[in-house]
Amino acid sequence: MKVSVRARNTLPSPTLGITARAKALAAQGVDVIDFGAGEPDFDTPAHIRAAAIEAIEQGFTRYTPSAGAPALRQAVCQSFLRDYGLQYRPEQVLVGVGAKHVLFNLMQALLDPGDEVIIPSPYWVSYPEQVKLAGGVPVALCGEPEAGYMPSTDGVKAALTPRTRAIILNSPGNPTGAVASRRRVKELVSLAIKHDLVIISDEIYAKLIYDDNEHVSPAGLGAEAYARTVTVNGCSKTWAMTGWRIGYCGAADTELISAMSRMQDQSTSNPASISQKAALAALTGPQECVEEMRLAFEERRNRIVELLNAIPGIRCPMPGGAFYAFPDVSGLIGLGADNVTIDGADSLAAYLLDAVQVAVVPGAGFGAPGNIRISYATSIPVIEAGLERMQDAICRLR
Ligand code: PMP
Ligand code: GLU
Repeated sequence: MKVSVRARNTLPSPTLGITARAKALAAQGVDVIDFGAGEPDFDTPAHIRAAAIEAIEQGFTRYTPSAGAPALRQAVCQSFLRDYGLQYRPEQVLVGVGAKHVLFNLMQALLDPGDEVIIPSPYWVSYPEQVKLAGGVPVALCGEPEAGYMPSTDGVKAALTPRTRAIILNSPGNPTGAVASRRRVKELVSLAIKHDLVIISDEIYAKLIYDDNEHVSPAGLGAEAYARTVTVNGCSKTWAMTGWRIGYCGAADTELISAMSRMQDQSTSNPASISQKAALAALTGPQECVEEMRLAFEERRNRIVELLNAIPGIRCPMPGGAFYAFPDVSGLIGLGADNVTIDGADSLAAYLLDAVQVAVVPGAGFGAPGNIRISYATSIPVIEAGLERMQDAICRLR
């Protein structure tokens, strides 16, 4: 059957693709080490699981308002205030089926055909596709590594056109794990104010920050910044809840939230009622679990970066947040083994999966063809075993 031009022009998600391939191999009994999946390996904390079971037992199993149950929208407001100092009212909040869905609805509600969205590169794979699906034009702009992969203000200025509508900021970032400095965020926010841009701040990794890095929410940088920022967050990474599919956003502009809610009315309706109860427990319950997981990620980060930098031809900066290492592998280009030539990160990722059954995501989908993304949301023994395999495979390259 002929599919639409829109569908033909939409790329598959490489992050989900690699994860599915690694899981399929594991199901066939292959001993795969999966560094592909961008999801915590921890189980969802027990009190959150218990809240979901209680929701089922108590019959909280019907439709809720599309934009989320009132109690959950209220809890999202409390969490924005407690965790990030941001003041939103429930009607300024929308709960969707994961942050991905919230961002999708946001693009649908915000963009007219031809509207441009500036996307600092490397970027999370779904941003450009979601912009395109809304009829918009993604404008990738190289970030500066020393500035947490945020672009310079001069870079942004040069990319501005009369059609520029929004800029996406994602700190800590996927795939780099980089954390933007307060100074750079302030500069970009001032520019957005000056040129009347909407700031889409994807803060899904904001609770996963290491060393003395700090998270800066653009919406907290004054009234004008607040007025034009949409702050996106969710339960997936902070509370190890990827499968539950709960994300949310806060925005000063209630008309934008209503527009997003209409998108949701006509597509998914509410996110699953049971997941909403779980999210309520996550947001309002004890938060020690978040810190425990953060500490574990930090230890894993230190180990994996050390091991990666010990492999000849790989250079890996220390990420300040999230759970990704994003090494530069361009030093391996031109080498080969076992009838394979490494001509970029794609062929390196394919070689690692075939030769030593290690799954990593090649950087092209993130706009960085010389890098691979390694998710270290897995245990230290698995990290050590995976890196040993990678070292073996890479040392065979000549
Ligand atoms: N933003 C970024 C940067 C991400 O890495 C992810 C990963 N899943 C999401 C948004 C969406 O997360 P979810 O839909 O699971 O809330
Ligand atoms: N965001 C995660 C990742 O980048 C999960 C997969 C996805 O939604 O892209 O791997």
